[in-house]
Amino acid sequence: MQAINHLHKISPEKVVRGEKAWEEAKELIPSLCKKPLLLGRSNCTYEIRRLLSIELSSMGLNIINEELNHDCCEVDLQRISSIAKHSFCDAIIASGGGKVLDAGKLIANRLKIPCITVPLSASTCAGWTALANIYSPKGSFIKDEILDKCPKLLIFDYNLVRKAPKRTLASGIADALAKWYEASISSGNSNDSLVQQSVQMARVLRDQLLIDSKTALQDPNSSAWIKVAEGCALTAGLIGGIGGAKCRTAAAHAVHNGLTQLDFKQKSLHGELVGYGILVQLRIEEILSKNQLALQTKKQLIELLIDLDLPIDIQSLGLKSYEKKELEKACIFACNRNSEIHNLPFKVNENTLMEALLDAHKLDLISSNEKI
Ligand SMILES: [Zn+2]
Repeated sequence: MQAINHLHKISPEKVVRGEKAWEEAKELIPSLCKKPLLLGRSNCTYEIRRLLSIELSSMGLNIINEELNHDCCEVDLQRISSIAKHSFCDAIIASGGGKVLDAGKLIANRLKIPCITVPLSASTCAGWTALANIYSPKGSFIKDEILDKCPKLLIFDYNLVRKAPKRTLASGIADALAKWYEASISSGNSNDSLVQQSVQMARVLRDQLLIDSKTALQDPNSSAWIKVAEGCALTAGLIGGIGGAKCRTAAAHAVHNGLTQLDFKQKSLHGELVGYGILVQLRIEEILSKNQLALQTKKQLIELLIDLDLPIDIQSLGLKSYEKKELEKACIFACNRNSEIHNLPFKVNENTLMEALLDAHKLDLISSNEKI
């Protein structure tokens, strides 16, 4: 028997979710801090953050408002950490999408102060996890960082999240779907019961997303919307927390990381690239393991991605150039020695990945003697 211990950071200390979660949860904040830094980024969430800031000020808190200039990148992290430190902030309240939540968690982790996450979309599970992705100022993925703990408090207010553009929920759905496609192939044979159970939880989440996503996008006031939004922003994080490092990512996220190294005409959201990455991963399975099941799975997935208006072929990713030389950069990055792509149960190199990247959407059968 292996004498290995596992450390889990399963969930935020408290999660308040519901139609008026903010109203209830804000009462908890004065017991956690007196001078928090409220972090955000985009113009479209400015008005919400302004109101949150006013409400917290009226409760006697001294609020420092700051915004990221880029994605979650070192330049911003250091600038805001320094402001928080010199202003003697005693907590970070991160309010926005995944990159803002990640930046808030990283800054709080570095300053050893609590982090409160207030997701303003269901685009990722970043409000939940003890993980953060760091990007370059132009948005290229650099690395992920494991944090000491999950956030102190997560406030998932349906009314606030409903205000986010539709596209963010579609992106969150693709990111949450990846939990099953990645964890089942990278940890499917694990003997660890917590990993097994979290993989099954990812399957249940996938099934729920397959059933409810279309309605959720059409009607934000439906019960389907609540199930789907919480699945993307909360359950997906819980799956990662229970399963731990072995139950996380594989090729879909590696493809995302590789693609972010390229120049974009139109910037894609995290889950939009991850969703395409799932198709690429399934194509790799078809090529290397001749897995016919992957083809059926892909058919079902493509139908859903089309329904959600998510990209299913490489030309829809908004890249500046689709020249092979450019795409090679993404493949080289995605196949680097530390890449999650190597969590797949077969060896993948840049050539196979390139082939899968170009043909990910195809639904033809690859005959067993066609590929070596
Ligand atoms: Zn993701």
